[in-house]
Amino acid sequence: MQSLAIPQHPVETTEKTFESLGLSRSILRCVRLVGFEHPTPIQAAVIPVALTGKDLVGLAETGSGKTAAFTIPIAERLANSPTHSLKTRGLILSPTREIALQTQTFLDLFGGDYGLRTACLIGGVKMGPQHTALRRRPHIIVATPGRLLDHMEQGTARLGDVDVLVLDEADHMLDMGFLPQVLRILQQVPTKRQTLMFSATMPPPIERLAQQFMSNPERVDITPKGAAQGISHRLYLVEPENKKACLLALLNQELGSTLVFIRRKVDAEWLSGVLEREGHPVERIHSDLSQGQRVQALQGFREGEHRILVATDIAARGLDIPRVRHIINFDIPETVEDYIHRAGRTARGTATGIVSTLASWMDKMRIKEIESTLGEDLPRCTVPGVEPYVEMKPRVSMGGGRRTALKVKRR
Ligand code: AMP
Repeated sequence: MQSLAIPQHPVETTEKTFESLGLSRSILRCVRLVGFEHPTPIQAAVIPVALTGKDLVGLAETGSGKTAAFTIPIAERLANSPTHSLKTRGLILSPTREIALQTQTFLDLFGGDYGLRTACLIGGVKMGPQHTALRRRPHIIVATPGRLLDHMEQGTARLGDVDVLVLDEADHMLDMGFLPQVLRILQQVPTKRQTLMFSATMPPPIERLAQQFMSNPERVDITPKGAAQGISHRLYLVEPENKKACLLALLNQELGSTLVFIRRKVDAEWLSGVLEREGHPVERIHSDLSQGQRVQALQGFREGEHRILVATDIAARGLDIPRVRHIINFDIPETVEDYIHRAGRTARGTATGIVSTLASWMDKMRIKEIESTLGEDLPRCTVPGVEPYVEMKPRVSMGGGRRTALKVKRR
């Protein structure tokens, strides 16, 4: 097996060893080959519990090694099962195609040694290769809900033997957008199973809902309680018509890899066109593009081919892109959770980064919500040449996009 096919960047690890977590020799060998020396805090806490077959809710900030925290014990449990070669026993539901593909890569690395078979069922690509993968009786299916339901309706994906279920980005999988699909899938999954749920955020009502799908779950919460290290947050209050000028100024001011979030797909197309005409190396990603275009856009951004990626919220969660320096919220996120997930695309592991939010008077309530969740005011900043929108309550403005050292809580 070659050394690695997953992104690597510095991540906080514990002093524990993988040997101490109860893993078998073949999995330990795979972990070593991947290049992981010590478990991260979420891995050290989750792996021993998951190996016992207990249900679990795992909360840890984004980029803390959650994917391996569930793929390692699943690979271990299914590899050591006497029936492992015949049945689909693992189901991992992911909110986006990109997260599903990332997860499959981890499973292939950790389970490759003893022929763990996986099928990744995602939309936007042909059904044919997925039918072939399903005919090979995969041990684990990794899927986005819509495409999995297509296969279930065709009778090509059967979930009657699943005894380990993972909901990744669980709060999102259980929100109103996905819930109806997830419920239809869960109807086909035996109730006698292990259920693992992971996320960086878990609003209390969603967590109460999650409990209904689990039995006496263990709760592992290692989200930082104090100020998170590594992210500088900035708020630029501007009139809506001045957002574009503010963005262009920020792009010239902060060099480095930049992810610009925007709410609507049509606006992502418009904005990437604007930036291209301004001479910026830019790509865009949203759900109206083909899977091939999405993969290409992400790969080009990862490899530094284009410095800027304009994205809708499909890129907000779970994506592991090393070295993103700057997140710019061209549109303020719709929820506080979305703010936290978008922000989590920078300052991965032990790196540092900046999150700049452009907002107008219409966004006042949302700003308040974000500030109250983070427990700090977002520092108000300005860029030269762009008139700031003046709030009712006067605040100190920081000239020339000066960097602020304020660190606020990140979950
Ligand atoms: P994730 O939170 O699953 O997106 O993982 C974030 C990054 O941390 C990925 O690039 C992993 O390759 C890396 N990673 C996960 N676990 C470890 C570990 N124990 N040691 C070193 N790197 C790790």
